[in-house]
Amino acid sequence: MVVVKLKAFEEIVSKLKGFRKIFILGCELGSGRCKNGGLKEALELSERLKGLGFNVVGVKSPGGTCILERIDGRERSLLKEAKTKGSEVIVSLACGAGTQLIAENVDVPVITGVTTLFIGAEREGRIFNEYCIACGDCIISDTGGICPVARCPKSLVNGPCGGAIEGQCEVDKEIPCIWYKIAERMKKLGAFKSLCESAPFKDYRKSVYPRRLILEEKS
Ligand code: SF4
Ligand code: SF4
Repeated sequence: MVVVKLKAFEEIVSKLKGFRKIFILGCELGSGRCKNGGLKEALELSERLKGLGFNVVGVKSPGGTCILERIDGRERSLLKEAKTKGSEVIVSLACGAGTQLIAENVDVPVITGVTTLFIGAEREGRIFNEYCIACGDCIISDTGGICPVARCPKSLVNGPCGGAIEGQCEVDKEIPCIWYKIAERMKKLGAFKSLCESAPFKDYRKSVYPRRLILEEKS
């Protein structure tokens, strides 16, 4: 899932200078899931903004703001609603992709109330760890299903770097050296030898932005 973090209230307010009528859009699918920009947070933000004298003309939190088809259909009506209610600005709590799609579909300024952090895995409903940076050339078939690109601070595909102390990363002692984890896993799978023989091949040309995926027409 895409993990986002709400910006400080003061920072959001600083971007709203000169505006009075505000429409707030969250996103239930991503931001809501990580409790940093779904309906609950959008309503809380609305109350705080009202407390400062802003006129919040609408608060909505669609599921999947970043899905163009939805923007074209049901969600577009939300944007129409924002327009008919005379919003001067939209505050989006959707991820960077969702917020950009909103901006492409409205004539008023769109400001973001969140920072998009990473693609992460959720634990215990409250801990989100970065597991993937969408590097464009996935190599985890060769590393026991564990990603060193996202989970080693040096993104080494031929680790370990040699700096680990008792299995902990030299850059961040709070986390395990992911290459120790990869080695353990590969040993368990009986595939350690193959890991030692050759480092995974990674094609960095596939990391050049902006990337896109076009689905083939099915015949
Ligand atoms: S190798 Fe790349 S695509 Fe695969 S999990 Fe890691 S960052 Fe994501
Ligand atoms: S100690 Fe391990 S996880 Fe940390 S930077 Fe070195 S190889 Fe990467």
